[in-house]
Amino acid sequence: MSKVLIIGAGGVGNVVAHKCAMVPEVFSEIHLASRTLVKCEQIAQDVKEATGVEIQTSQVDADIVPELVSLIRKVQPELVINVALPYQDLTIMDACLETKVHYLDTANYEPKDEAKFEYKWQWAYQDRFKEAGLTALLGCGFDPGVTGVFTAYANKHHFDEIHYLDIVDCNAGDHGKAFATNFNPEINIREITQKGKYWENGQWVEIDPMSIHKPIEYPEIGPRESYLLYHEELESLVKNIPSIKRARFWMTFGQEYIKHLEVLQNVGMTSIEPITYQGVEIVPLQFLKAVLPEPSSLGEGYEGQTSIGCQIKGMKDGQEKTYYIYNNCNHAESYKEVKAQAVSYTTGVPAMVGAMMLLTGQWKGEGVFNVEEFNPDPFLEQLAKHGLPWHEKVNTALPHEY
Ligand code: NDP
Repeated sequence: MSKVLIIGAGGVGNVVAHKCAMVPEVFSEIHLASRTLVKCEQIAQDVKEATGVEIQTSQVDADIVPELVSLIRKVQPELVINVALPYQDLTIMDACLETKVHYLDTANYEPKDEAKFEYKWQWAYQDRFKEAGLTALLGCGFDPGVTGVFTAYANKHHFDEIHYLDIVDCNAGDHGKAFATNFNPEINIREITQKGKYWENGQWVEIDPMSIHKPIEYPEIGPRESYLLYHEELESLVKNIPSIKRARFWMTFGQEYIKHLEVLQNVGMTSIEPITYQGVEIVPLQFLKAVLPEPSSLGEGYEGQTSIGCQIKGMKDGQEKTYYIYNNCNHAESYKEVKAQAVSYTTGVPAMVGAMMLLTGQWKGEGVFNVEEFNPDPFLEQLAKHGLPWHEKVNTALPHEY
C-alpha cells in the first residue's frame, strides 16, 4: 500500500492516473499535480467516473525545485512518477533527493536550448541517489521502457549473446487530422528533425535526418515505410548489453506527416532558436506546439493500431537464432478504457507497471537505473495483465533484413 505523486496532466499523465487507480492494492493514494490545475481536476473527475477512486490534485511548476519540495513534503509520497516534459527531469530528481523519495520517468532529460537525447545528465545523479538509498528509474514508458525490458527478456531467456537489435515502432492509426503529433509536439518534432544515429561495431554512425528508410512488415498491419531515427534507449542498451554489435531504431511516418514536417522545417517553424516577434522573444517550435492539437485531444475517433517491438538476432547454444517480441495496441480500445489514444496508453501503462515494480520491491536498487538492469519477468507478467499483452516469434525468418 503506497502513495504516489504523478507530475504532468497530459496524455500520458491521464493514463497513469487511470491505471494506478485500477490497482488500489498497490496504489492506495494517488495525487496528481501539473502546471495547469484544471487539467488535473478533469482527469480526477474522469478517474472517479471510471473507477470510483478519488484522487487529489495540486498545481505545481516543476521547473522550480522549492515548489516541488514543498508539494512533495505536503503529499508525502513514496514515489514520484514524472510524466511532465523531459525539461523537468533534473528539477524533479533534485526535489526527490531533497525529500528522500523514489523517482521514475519516461523520457530522458533534455536542455531546452539543444535537442540532445543523452542520458549523461541523469546518469550523473548515480552517486547522489545511491548515497540517499533511493531508486531513480529512467525511461519507463514504451520506447524507451518496454523495448528495454523486451531486450532484457530476450537476453535472459533466448540468447547467450545478442548481436543485432532493431527496435521497430509503427503507428498505423488514423486520427483524422491533417497534421498532429501523438505525444508532446515540441519533443516529438525535436526528436525527428535531429540527425539520425545508430550503433555499429562499437561506435555511433550519424546520418542525415530521415535519410535511411525502408518498408518493414508489422504484425496484423503489413508493410509500412519506416525511418531510421536516433532513440534514447539505444544508448543505455548498448552499454548494458555489451554483446550488441548493431542497434537501430525505426519508426513509421505517413506521407502526409512527412510533407507537413518538411514544409514546417523549410519555413523555419521547427527551429528551437529564439526569434523576436513584435518585441517578444518566442521559440518557433514552441509557437507551433501552441497551434497544433494537444496529444490528449486525439483520442476520440482515432482508429487503427500501434505495433512496437524488438527484432533480435544472436547466438544460442552455438546456433544462430532470431527472435521478435512485440505488442500491438488498438487506439479505439484504449480510448474506450481510459479516454486516451494508444501512444499515450502504451506509455502510461508501463509507467504504472514500473511504479508497481518499485513499490512492491520486485525491482529494487540504490542509484539510477535503466529498465533493462532489472528482472524483466515480473514486469512483463504485469504488463500483459494491465492492457499490453505481448507476443513472440522465435526462429521464424524475421520480416526485417539483416
Ligand atoms: P503532454 O504535452 O500531453 O503533457 C505534458 C504535461 O506536462 C502537461 O500537462 C503540461 O502542463 C505538464 N508540464 C509541462 N511543463 C510543466 C512544468 N514546468 N510544471 C508542471 N507541469 C508541466 O505530453 P505527453 O503526456 O504526451 O508526454 C508526457 C511525457 O511522456 C513526455 O516527457 C514525453 O516525452 C514522454 N513520452 C514517452 C514515451 C515513451 O514511450 N517512453 C512516449 C510518449 C511520450 P500544461 O498542460 O500546463 O502544458
